[in-house]
Amino acid sequence: MPLRACLKCKHLTSSSVCDVCKSSNLSSDWSGLFIVIRPESSELAKTLGITSPGRYAIKVR
Ligand SMILES: [Zn+2]
Repeated sequence: MPLRACLKCKHLTSSSVCDVCKSSNLSSDWSGLFIVIRPESSELAKTLGITSPGRYAIKVR
């Protein structure tokens, strides 16, 4: 299954629910992948409100 982005937290997942917030509200229309390894030390993660490590989309429609 291709990667889909969670509409709530922007986490990218290949399953049918988001691994982070357990939402099933996923979109295949996303762009700009970035990887968060340590959310506490990433300015981008702070800006986007990300608190869990993983792969995220910058834009989700
Ligand atoms: Zn999510």
